[in-house]
Amino acid sequence: MNHFERKDGQLWADGVPLAQIAAEFGTPTYVYSRATIERHYRVMDEALHGLEHLVCYAVKACSNLAILQILANLGSGFDIVSAGELRRVLLAGGDAKKIVFSGVAKRDDEIALALQAGILCFNVESAGELGRIERVAQQLGLRAPISLRVNPDVDPHTHKYIATGLKSSKFGVAFAEAESLYQRAAQSPHLQIVGVDCHIGSQILEVAPFVEAIEKMLGLCDRLKAAGIALQHLDLGGGLGIAYRDERPAAPIELGQKIVSMARAHGLHIVTEPGRVIVGNAAVMLTRVVGTKQNGDKEFVLVDAGMNDLIRPALYQAWHTIELASDPRGRERHQVDVVGPVCESGDFLAQDRELVVVGEGDLLAVSGAGAYGFAMASNYNSRPRAAEVLVDGARTTLIRARETLEDLWRGEHLLDADQLQNR
Ligand SMILES: *Cc1c(COP(=O)(O)O)cnc(C)c1O
Repeated sequence: MNHFERKDGQLWADGVPLAQIAAEFGTPTYVYSRATIERHYRVMDEALHGLEHLVCYAVKACSNLAILQILANLGSGFDIVSAGELRRVLLAGGDAKKIVFSGVAKRDDEIALALQAGILCFNVESAGELGRIERVAQQLGLRAPISLRVNPDVDPHTHKYIATGLKSSKFGVAFAEAESLYQRAAQSPHLQIVGVDCHIGSQILEVAPFVEAIEKMLGLCDRLKAAGIALQHLDLGGGLGIAYRDERPAAPIELGQKIVSMARAHGLHIVTEPGRVIVGNAAVMLTRVVGTKQNGDKEFVLVDAGMNDLIRPALYQAWHTIELASDPRGRERHQVDVVGPVCESGDFLAQDRELVVVGEGDLLAVSGAGAYGFAMASNYNSRPRAAEVLVDGARTTLIRARETLEDLWRGEHLLDADQLQNR
């Protein structure tokens, strides 16, 4: 459920017509709905009713400060994967004690920053990393709260780039190794075991892979307990999918109540790390039609947003619904490719897509753009990154200015004249 709807034929974001936002802020622009983000956070939180729990929003899905602020304001925790994300969360008013730090290649300086900030937990991904965290904690005279990210070897039935819980993936430590690593951590005066963690993948539509992972994780928790290792929480990661097209993802309440019923008897707090399900359908990307062209039998709609603005179609062959923002009634439909200006044939937003006939100046809204949309945007082809606008009822706020051309080369340096002598 989201707050993007047609009224009298026009597409609106909550209380504001998308055409008005494009006129005021230009295109391409990401438009977020505050009401949708808040609703989705609450659904994820309430789904775990009946168990002590913490929802840690996965910052990498969409890391704009204002979005983080909205979530921090609701009491959300955060799942971070870098020092940059740590600083963002703290700047946005997030509580360090509600931060879990994931990621497979944390650097010493990032570990130090997180230790000094006093985060809830490091989700440790290897024996080597456990050693690095221990060393940094020792140097700082601190004790690092840790949880091992265990790889439950579950197939989440999703795109191979976002399946992370298989034995063959780079993530986590093997199930068989976990117990001895915990034993090692338990001996260290600079490590404090607080939990166990897994994250099996993203855009998972069924409950079954989660159930399989939970069963394995709870089994491990029991074995650790029997071995004298006390745990406070079980972190089940993120990964619940959303409907981009006609998918029918499991409802959060269905997954949540499954978690509650399975975990209740184990006396553990539950941590979850949802990203996509909170912000995915909370934004559209606005793009304007630059023109159309025909090559052979193919019709192309050329738009002013490219794979640098929204890479999901190119990277994951992802489907994003594309709609005309103005009244589409009365227009004929035909099959087109919607493509951007970037010099790559992979630069498309949609291929062989049925769309109403559009022309220069028409405004299009690309749905489901909130997660891994702006967050994965780049400056490829020296294209300034898009603006981000938040809609809150009838109010719009520019939460990230469109980059200027000067922003593109900020930090670059021209060579001195003497370095340019022909040699
Ligand atoms: C990406 C990621 C998430 C969030 O995944 P979603 O599919 O967006 O919910 C959570 N935890 C970890 C460790 C991740 O890498």
